[in-house]
Amino acid sequence: MQQISSTRWESMRYFIETYGCQMNKAESAAMEVDFRDRGWSRANEAEEADLVMINTCSVRITAENRAWGRVAHYAAKKKIRLFTLIVTGCMAERMKAEMIARQPAIDFVLGNFQKQSLGRILDSVSSGNGVAIIDETPVFSFAGSHWEEGSFRSFLPIMHGCDNFCSYCIVPHVRGREVSRSLESVLEEVDALAARGVREITLLGQNVNSWHWEQYGQILLFPDLLKAVADRARNGAIGRIRFISSHPKDLSDETIAVIAKDPLLAKHIHLCIQHGSDRILGAMNRKYTSGFYMDLVDRMRKAIPDLSLSTDILMGFPGETEEDVQDTLSLMAKARFAYAYMYHYNPREGTPAATLPDQIPDIVKKERLARVIALQKELTRAAMKSFIGRGFEVLVEGPSSKNPDELLARTDHDMMVVFSGDKRHIGNFARVRLLSLRGNTFKAEEVR
Ligand code: SF4
Repeated sequence: MQQISSTRWESMRYFIETYGCQMNKAESAAMEVDFRDRGWSRANEAEEADLVMINTCSVRITAENRAWGRVAHYAAKKKIRLFTLIVTGCMAERMKAEMIARQPAIDFVLGNFQKQSLGRILDSVSSGNGVAIIDETPVFSFAGSHWEEGSFRSFLPIMHGCDNFCSYCIVPHVRGREVSRSLESVLEEVDALAARGVREITLLGQNVNSWHWEQYGQILLFPDLLKAVADRARNGAIGRIRFISSHPKDLSDETIAVIAKDPLLAKHIHLCIQHGSDRILGAMNRKYTSGFYMDLVDRMRKAIPDLSLSTDILMGFPGETEEDVQDTLSLMAKARFAYAYMYHYNPREGTPAATLPDQIPDIVKKERLARVIALQKELTRAAMKSFIGRGFEVLVEGPSSKNPDELLARTDHDMMVVFSGDKRHIGNFARVRLLSLRGNTFKAEEVR
């Protein structure tokens, strides 16, 4: 049980700062639904809000340091005016006791397994009764809606947690073991999102491929879910389905076959490789080899000739040698990733890799990462140039921020496109032909 001050506010407004991964973004969107359901409105600035929430990330120490900075910032503001301060997310899960002890300005610390208590906190804050009970036995529960107001694209979490325990990753320690969301609940949210005007959904989880659900004595697996979601989406106006993240060891041939066959499933897969050296993949506990990964890529490209593949790459893992770097560069060239999220390793307290010997000096990590980024830039450019002249169906997201007379849209392959077109296209699909490339955005013309 935690205490809050008993001040009653006239008009209740909230402000959320979200850091970290897509799961945090989806969960912030779900918590906004809780706020809206209780009549709260979103404040444009934190300074105008009756309640500020920081949804934190623990994946890197820099993310946690940043969150501490934001907490200190709001603690200073609370000396000038009254508002409620909530810290949630992975950092709240990882260091709940420390947060409460170190920063008394925080009114509530809400771990990943307690977000269902938010409604009770809001009722308590708005009624001014001063007290809210937070579950003492936390369990993870999926929110019913993750729709961000006004958006045509939405995340739809289908599972939570991770059983993989990669040696550098804090996620299984702060998000817990894998839990799948029921098929019924996923399909209900598909219907609800379609009714809200959503046109593209991204099924979300730390490892979506391990989704499973038992129904009428039968175990349903991820490809069954993809088929069911696509069939349900076809009833509404949803025209595109994506999913992230996929662990290579769990991406089955059945899943590849479903993607190849169903036009609603985006022909783009984000498949984290992390490294090109088998020795480093072993030390990372990734549970596959570079050969296994490339074999999977070959099978995917045979089944889905138009496939666009993206990845994550982590350089500078403890013990990495120049030969390991060369293995990574060579795998990247073979895999021809359309784009990649590239990082250098930073020890994460609480993970096995943080205690490994042979930590790589920062300057070396940065130099290796720079070479990986330079190669990926070339690969991305070559992949993008090969699309010029081709026709694509795009989802129109809104006016371009650089030129409001143009529309900004996104292809099935997750590429950004601008073109001159009727504003009535916003929130709908349009057909375009790619004409040229400006940075990472295509210039296109509408075709009918
Ligand atoms: S698969 Fe590995 S990197 Fe991804 S969340 Fe699980 S432990 Fe972390």
